[in-house]
Amino acid sequence: MNAPHPSIQPTALPFDINTLPQGMYIGGQWRAASSGQHIDVVDPSTEQVIATVPDATIGDANAAVEAAAAAAPAWRNTAPRQRSEILRRCFTLMTERADMLAALISLENGKALRDARAEVAYAAEFFRWNAEEAVRITGEFGTAPSGSNRIIVDYVPIGICVLITPWNFPAAMATRKIAPALAAGCTVVLKPASETPLTAYALAALYEEAGVPAGVVNVLTTSDPGPVTAAMLADPRVRKLSFTGSTQVGRTLLAEAAKSVVSCAMELGGNAPFLVFDDANLEAALDGAMIAKMRNAGEACTAANRIYVQAGIHDAFAKGLAQRMAALKVGPGVQTTTECGPMITHKAVQKIHRLVQDAVERGAQVLSGGVIPDGKGYFYPPTVLTNVSTDALMAHEEIFGPVAPIRRFDTEEEAIALANDTEYGLAAYIYTGDTGRGMRVAAAIESGMIALNRGLVSDPAAPFGGVKQSGLGREGGQHHGIAEFMESKYIATTF
Ligand code: NAD
Repeated sequence: MNAPHPSIQPTALPFDINTLPQGMYIGGQWRAASSGQHIDVVDPSTEQVIATVPDATIGDANAAVEAAAAAAPAWRNTAPRQRSEILRRCFTLMTERADMLAALISLENGKALRDARAEVAYAAEFFRWNAEEAVRITGEFGTAPSGSNRIIVDYVPIGICVLITPWNFPAAMATRKIAPALAAGCTVVLKPASETPLTAYALAALYEEAGVPAGVVNVLTTSDPGPVTAAMLADPRVRKLSFTGSTQVGRTLLAEAAKSVVSCAMELGGNAPFLVFDDANLEAALDGAMIAKMRNAGEACTAANRIYVQAGIHDAFAKGLAQRMAALKVGPGVQTTTECGPMITHKAVQKIHRLVQDAVERGAQVLSGGVIPDGKGYFYPPTVLTNVSTDALMAHEEIFGPVAPIRRFDTEEEAIALANDTEYGLAAYIYTGDTGRGMRVAAAIESGMIALNRGLVSDPAAPFGGVKQSGLGREGGQHHGIAEFMESKYIATTF
């Protein structure tokens, strides 16, 4: 039997959807796709089409690269202080319009408003951080070991950048790329996910208002991303591909970029372990698990995907997590009381349910959730499973939903082996009362980012990225984020 459908109540949006920008943003102009075709944007809470956006062709993508190329010389020669101040204005405008942007993200993505507000703050912060970094790009100067010449190293903008982003953080995944690219002096073409393009276009209008010159940021949407991206990568002026999305698509794009030897930054999938040791503070571990699992309803690359709990604390932790998960209010993201919004698509719900059924067939017990509700909207209930087998599909694939699979372990060595038993290495979480153990386990886990007694790792001031098949390169951080968009140029000279 199916569970009742989360009730949907009308919520007043702080904007009129008909006043949102219409068209692709190329060379500072709003254009229709040359195909005349459109892509429907669907509200995942109601399954209703809320807007349409242009379906760009290869010709449109070439026009966007052309516009980025035309704007490049002036932008790279704009004084760093001036670039910095434009980026700072982007931060200010995003912060002033946080309510509107959060509601728009909630509407097209489905995430709870509180998650959307947190995303807007995080996304805006990339502009503030990179405004500060834009004026601190320096080079190197030294003497060759032989003493025969001087070594001068300059850092220069890499060239035109193609940026491709996923639907789960429609604002932040874009600003995490655009802000450092612009700080470095590059011009860009952004292709956001077709599921959530409205935020990307709304932000394009905001950048223009902040003073970003025409052609510096271009945005287009397409239902045919493979050929459209391949055309852009084949243009010799495009020198960077910065991609955030699934490992599967990342592999395809790496192969495509290889044809023109384009530099790649890849922020790919995750399969984060969440380790709780007997000596952990139970309440703190539960608080952390709720954040690590349920931020964005589990639709996050850093989401806790496998929860491993030591035998002595296992039962209390599982019971506490099931209580907290069952108490969450499921509903449309734009409704202020919602704590867990819908998934992005019907396909996503089906995938999550398939993973839950597979785990149950392999011996897992359902402590809460696990039943798809009736009615409209792509809802999946917060779900807790225990005794999840290491063979279960969800131990190896991203769940990308509100499902917390728990498994018991006995020793520290076993916990480390379980944590590392994956092709991914993006984020990992450790809860322990022993700082020495925390640091020891953090050192042993193969992961780009570790949260020690915390449920959240992301910070614009820290290098974000993964090892193994979770990606290549870093975003954010003191110099890491900007370095992705620069190339060193070495001059040997004698004087
Ligand atoms: P996805 O890989 O399906 O799509 C990502 C983007 O790539 C979208 O814009 C999509 O239109 C585009 N795309 C798809 N096929 C393409 C192709 N052949 N050529 C060019 N572009 C193509 O991923 P998704 O479902 O949108 O997002 C979820 C995935 O993103 C998860 O795996 C998640 O872990 C990952 N992700 C990673 C990070 C990170 O920072 N590491 C952050 C957020 C999401």
